[in-house]
Amino acid sequence: MLPWAVLWDMDGTLVDTAELHFAAWRECCNQQGRDFTEADFQATFGRRNPEILRFLLGDHLTDEEVARLGEAKEQIYRTQSRKTGIELLPGARKLLVAARDHGAVQAIGSSAPRGNLDMILELTGIGEFFTCTVGMEDTTRGKPDPQVFLIGAQRLHVPPQRCVVMEDAVAGIQAATAGGMQSVAVRHVGHHPAEALKAAGASLVVECLTELDGPNLVSLVLH
Ligand SMILES: [Mg+2]
Repeated sequence: MLPWAVLWDMDGTLVDTAELHFAAWRECCNQQGRDFTEADFQATFGRRNPEILRFLLGDHLTDEEVARLGEAKEQIYRTQSRKTGIELLPGARKLLVAARDHGAVQAIGSSAPRGNLDMILELTGIGEFFTCTVGMEDTTRGKPDPQVFLIGAQRLHVPPQRCVVMEDAVAGIQAATAGGMQSVAVRHVGHHPAEALKAAGASLVVECLTELDGPNLVSLVLH
């Protein structure tokens, strides 16, 4: 079989870190004298920190301020994550094993900073499945731009049309579609309606990773 790949989004797809991120953003914003609401969270979730911080605190922020505030927020997030612990969503480990056993090479394609990705791989013990991780520092444009997934495909030496992207967010599915890739939308965490995910170009929409197996994923790249 020709090489094929699975490119995994992290937050909302492999793990559910929404509450931890919400709390960390709220604390970060409060320190800057600003509230952080559910609406702010909805508007920013899944985006890269530079875009989020300028959305929340204003376009006047310098690159240095963005870097400092972003790191401060991630420190809060990582400290709390280590205290609470992070668990894989149902079916995640089994599907990582199944994809590997069916010959896939796998990578992470995430908006998150490298420190967060490394921490989650460590806390969940799934680092062995990934040939590489692509995160915030590797990209200049966030999803729905396909950059994060195209870099992942390139590093895995697999053409985009033989890549399956696993995602929970509309912007992530749009990124996969724009990159010429197949995609599976997982609604477990459920921030996005199935119709919107389909409209964004998802090849398949499932409620939970437990609905999938190796042959399901392979079938998406056999064309
Ligand atoms: Mg996500």
